[in-house]
Amino acid sequence: MVLENRKLLAANFGPTIYMNQMHGDTVVVVDGLSNQPPNADALVTQQSGIALAVLVADCIPLLLWDDEHTSVGAIHVGRRGLVNGITEKTIGIMRAMGANQIHALLGPSICGRCYEVGQDIYQEVVGAIPYAESVTQRGSLALDLPRALIMQLQEWGIIVTPSTICTFEDPDFYSYRRDGVTGRQAGVIRL
Ligand SMILES: [Zn+2]
Repeated sequence: MVLENRKLLAANFGPTIYMNQMHGDTVVVVDGLSNQPPNADALVTQQSGIALAVLVADCIPLLLWDDEHTSVGAIHVGRRGLVNGITEKTIGIMRAMGANQIHALLGPSICGRCYEVGQDIYQEVVGAIPYAESVTQRGSLALDLPRALIMQLQEWGIIVTPSTICTFEDPDFYSYRRDGVTGRQAGVIRL
């Protein structure tokens, strides 16, 4: 199933680079094709014809491009990624490559009403990024990762296209929180 879907993606987008996502802050600049997926949570490339893929099931798939088409990026943003600054790091790399006006597209992820967390995690994340504070429908502590990420991106001058879909609420999407062992959505971008 996964292999077939990856073949379908390759048929639509051409050669596609995936990541071994680690919830870390490693950004890998892709210069060519490789059989070994890099250990990373963000990919950037200036090579046209190489598609970058991020796989998620509740975390945010974030895709970046710029007006001059100097580079593209794909990032896996979970709560650890929000706190460890991987998005700012990736944007810095794209700017160093010549990107001026950068655009960001957030794919479907779990929303701020559904992402319930315990006190410790709440304090760790909201302490670092106050925009992430949220409560669930029933009033317990929650994190709003997409809102926090959007606020950050806008502060950095990025033009943002948000998603209106919550993976936990919409059965058409994979949700780790809802289903446990599950497939993942792919976010794919290429120059
Ligand atoms: Zn939701």
